[in-house]
Amino acid sequence: MKRFDVIILVLFCICGCKKLGKPETFTQDWLTMGTFASCTVSAENSEQADKYFKIVKDEFDKISKSFNIYNTNSIISIINRDAHFSPVKVNDNEFCIITNSFACSQKTETAFNPVCLPLIRLWGFNGGTNTTVPTQPMIDEVMERVDISKVICETNTIFFIGENMQLDMGGVAKGSAVDMAYDELEKAGCMEFMVNLGGNIRAQTLKEHLLIGIRDPFDKENLIGTLKLKSGEAVATSGDYERFVILDGVKYPHIIDPRSGYPVKKTVATTIVAPNATMSDILSTATFVLGKEKIDDVLYQFPDVAILVISKNDGKMSISMSNEEVFDLL
Ligand code: ADP
Ligand code: MG
Repeated sequence: MKRFDVIILVLFCICGCKKLGKPETFTQDWLTMGTFASCTVSAENSEQADKYFKIVKDEFDKISKSFNIYNTNSIISIINRDAHFSPVKVNDNEFCIITNSFACSQKTETAFNPVCLPLIRLWGFNGGTNTTVPTQPMIDEVMERVDISKVICETNTIFFIGENMQLDMGGVAKGSAVDMAYDELEKAGCMEFMVNLGGNIRAQTLKEHLLIGIRDPFDKENLIGTLKLKSGEAVATSGDYERFVILDGVKYPHIIDPRSGYPVKKTVATTIVAPNATMSDILSTATFVLGKEKIDDVLYQFPDVAILVISKNDGKMSISMSNEEVFDLL
């Protein structure tokens, strides 16, 4: 189970004022999509807050239903089973998420690869059962199955023209769910709220910004700094410390470089602030793969984001960041 990567330091200044007509702050936490979810809302009363929580849960459930690879009836399982034979029809929202992730793949030198499930499974993640380090011939064989140019996305259908390909929305599903919940809460008239799904956070606030703590990846009880999150913006973190496998006595993180076929070793954590949670989710994974050397290239493609990369070299930690107005390191 993944814990939150970022710690909320300050949220709303509304703090339980019970006078008539004044909104109160309500929070609910629950488990979904293999991680923790949390929602804080400003509402007139607990009935209204419950309505808002239901809106968020319903949106998360929609994404979970679509993209859960362990549910044989989910659209992703149907695609992975049938899209080799004929195009599989998906709904508008699923098509939008899938095609956006392919577009982002092209903008990140395919560091983000939405069809890298065969590789991820080869390394023992997401239902993979491997318990030893794969051999180079095994990796070479699987690399042929993660070529994004062998997927045709057309008129709400997905079709694999390559053999044994498999879609994996693990690097974008949570961010997309947060954006859907954000849009629905806004439509419902909620003025101040924060939605958090496994560290993918998006908030609406009347304050100038919220202050979010960034956890020290080497000492989880401590923070290495804070970041400023403006209303409407999202933040996501990918880290090598939350999900990993130990193969032949060596620890491998769950983010794989689809260009080499190997788990990423040089990055410890990435934190991205972006205009929406889909983008911060995708780019936290992509930047984790690309590493600190490619921060400027990511910014060229996505000028509205702020990037923080924590790397390690010979056991030494280094921090690189793109935007000093957003990040404040201790
Ligand atoms: P988490 O899902 O643990 O919060 P991320 O958001 O960074 O972490 O996404 C990691 C997930 O993304 C993995 O569990 C896997 O499903 C998928 N993934 C791993 N490597 C890649 C990659 N290079 N491109 C796209 N998806 C990836
Ligand atoms: Mg992510």
